Amino acid sequence: MFPRILIIAALCLVARPGVAAMPVLVIHGGAGVIRATLTPEKEKLVRVDMEAALTAGYSVLKSGGSSLDAVTKAILVLENSPRFNAGKGAVFTHDGHNELDSAIMDGATLRAGAVAGVRHVKNPVLLARAVMEKSPHVFLTGAGAEAFAKTVGIELVDPSYFRTDQRWQELQEALKAEAKNQHSALGRAIHYGTVGAVALDKQGHLAAATSTGGMTNKRWGRVGDSPIIGAGTYANAHCAVSATGWGEYYIRTVAAHDICARVEYAKKPIAQAAKEVVMDVIPKLGGDGGVIALDADGNFTTPFNTDGMYRGWVDREGKMHVAILGE
Ligand code: ASP
Repeated sequence: MFPRILIIAALCLVARPGVAAMPVLVIHGGAGVIRATLTPEKEKLVRVDMEAALTAGYSVLKSGGSSLDAVTKAILVLENSPRFNAGKGAVFTHDGHNELDSAIMDGATLRAGAVAGVRHVKNPVLLARAVMEKSPHVFLTGAGAEAFAKTVGIELVDPSYFRTDQRWQELQEALKAEAKNQHSALGRAIHYGTVGAVALDKQGHLAAATSTGGMTNKRWGRVGDSPIIGAGTYANAHCAVSATGWGEYYIRTVAAHDICARVEYAKKPIAQAAKEVVMDVIPKLGGDGGVIALDADGNFTTPFNTDGMYRGWVDREGKMHVAILGE
C-alpha cells in the first residue's frame, strides 16, 4: 500500500491543469501555397526562414521565457523576411500601398493588442504588443496607431521598405484579372502568406500572434481577420489559435474563438475542434484557409483546405519540423 499522502501528491501532479512538462511552438507562413508555383529554390528559402523563426521563438521557451515573448520573436523573423506577406514583402493594396495588420494575445490574462492599416511600422507585431502593454486600448488603426507608435518608440520606416517586385507583380496581375472580371475585387486567386505563431511556455501559459499585409488588391481600408481578436487570433488558458486564409470568412465565423470554445465548452480535442471549423464551417460558406492551434497540454494541429500552408513546429520532445504541402 502506498502512503495516502503520496497518492494524493501524484494525483495533483497529473491533474494540474495547464502545466506543461515541455514547451511547444507552432508557426505558419500562410495558407494558399500553390503547388504549381512552388519551385525547389523557393521552398529552400522558405524553409530556412521558417527554421530561423522556430529557432528564435523556441530559444525563448527553452530558457523559461514566456509564450508571449516566443510568439513575438518568431513573428519578427517572418516579418523581416521578404518571402512572407507580413512586414517586408507585404502585399499591395489596390492603390499601391502596403497596409499592415497584426494582433497578439496572452492566454493567461486575456490581455490583447492589435493594429490595422498601418503603413510605416516596420514590425507591426511589436506595435500590437505595445498597444496591449502600454495603452489602455486593445485595437488601434491607421494614423492613430502610428501616432501611438511614435510615443512608445516603435520603429517607423519609409513605405518603400515593404516593397518587393514579386508583390508588385502580383498586384498588376490582380488588377488585370479584375479588369477581365476573372476574380473578386478582393483578389481571391492571389495566394496569401500571412504569418502566425502560437506557443505554450514552461509555466503552462499560451499565447498567439498573427501579422499580415492582408489580401492583394484590397481597398477601402479593408481589414481582414488577422488583427481581429477571436477571428484570426485568439488565446486563453485552454487554447491558442492563429489563422490564415480568406479573412472575410474567418471574421464571419469568429473562427479562432470558435475553435477555442469547442475545446473549452464542448471538451473536444484541439485537432477535432480546429478541423470542424477549418474543414467544415468555413468551406460550407465558400471560404478557405487554415489555422495553427495548440492546447494547454501541448497538443497541436495545423489543418488547411488549400493546396498547402507553410507551417512548422517544435514539439514537446524539442523536435523541429517544417512542412508546406498537404503531406
Ligand atoms: N487572413 C488574411 C486576411 O484576410 C490573409 C492571409 O491569411 O494571408 O487579411
